[in-house]
Amino acid sequence: MNNRRKFLQHLTGGIAALPFLSLNSFATTGAEASGSSPELPYAGPVLRVAIMGLGGYGTMVAEAMRACKKAKLVGVISGTPAKINAWQTRYHIPEKNCYNYENFDKIKDNPDIDAVYVITPNALHKEQAIRVARAGKHVICEKPMALNAKEAQEMIDACKKANVKLLVGYRMHFEPKTLEIIRMRKAGELGKVQFFQGLTGFAIGDPGQWRLNKALAGGGAMMDIGIYSVNGARYMTGEEPVWVTAEETKTDPAKFREGVDETIQFQLGFPSGAVASCLSTYSMNFLDRFFVLGTGGFAELQPATNYGPIQGKTHKGPLTALHVPHQTVQMEEMSDIILQNKTPIVPVDGEEGLKDLKIIDAIYQAAKTGKKVPLSG
Ligand code: NAD
Repeated sequence: MNNRRKFLQHLTGGIAALPFLSLNSFATTGAEASGSSPELPYAGPVLRVAIMGLGGYGTMVAEAMRACKKAKLVGVISGTPAKINAWQTRYHIPEKNCYNYENFDKIKDNPDIDAVYVITPNALHKEQAIRVARAGKHVICEKPMALNAKEAQEMIDACKKANVKLLVGYRMHFEPKTLEIIRMRKAGELGKVQFFQGLTGFAIGDPGQWRLNKALAGGGAMMDIGIYSVNGARYMTGEEPVWVTAEETKTDPAKFREGVDETIQFQLGFPSGAVASCLSTYSMNFLDRFFVLGTGGFAELQPATNYGPIQGKTHKGPLTALHVPHQTVQMEEMSDIILQNKTPIVPVDGEEGLKDLKIIDAIYQAAKTGKKVPLSG
């Protein structure tokens, strides 16, 4: 078990360790959260999904999807035949819906798969997502959607051309306590937003893992966990930044080699004059906190982005929305977005992923040059 997983399980107790709530009992809550009736059997459209990349997070998504009514795991794409066999048994996946990285373009001839969820190392996302789009299937892609803004734009263009949807796995965009703060901000209950603080990090373990390999990860902590602060700064303030400053520090250059950031502090400036101050790191545990302050009050979340339960309070008191496994709600909602053209409260489309990568590109540039980098907002 890597340190990230240990860290998350320490904070959350892990889904498996929640004593009295099975994933099925979450299904009811998930249905309520997504607006369908818990009493009537669901009879609407179901998004049939193949997962590409059967690793740690792919497994978590697959388990969470067991409780989905509107989305179903029906296929797999993997380079490891033994994993395919195990998933076939565990999730009742027919042989005709199993592919490897060489032959998955043939998915275009498979009418029983609607979408492919790409859950592989970051550097593979662009090419894999474009191949899925060319095969005529909707794409759900994990964060970061690509290594930089240029790649993200190529993915958006390919999906547009193929007339398929492109969504990014931003699970926090469906998290109830997060959404309650966004509701309060939009309703003016925080007043004019002045400041956001985002702290996201964990102490990464095994130096041999792909997350510490620039070629596969595209960077370091910023690509993996700092992106939550970048994304959070945008949905908490409701604005797009117009400038970035950043400073990088490295305590272990042997582990965090050239191009793999260990710790970056960054600041964002917004058109209203609001500012954000954030920390992204691979060397501090228990760092997972959002704070937003306005002229009328404040809201804070800690933990803010792990697998939950997310906890928080505002100037009005504690946030009390129920915990629902993030990936269950995400896939229910993504089914509605793809099949029923639902508009989510916070976007999860390719453009949303592109906005984060433009900021991350600027953060890297600012850290490298020591200069303030303007953004077009
Ligand atoms: P992982 O290492 O556990 O799994 C990656 C999978 O990709 C493995 O099954 C591996 O066999 C496969 N793979 C295919 N080609 C590979 C190659 N060339 N090199 C290495 N592995 C290859 O990683 P993970 O934690 O599941 O992360 C996968 C993606 O999911 C990443 O983009 C990560 O950022 C994202 N992720 C998102 C969240 C979230 O909360 N949204 C959480 C964890 C990971």
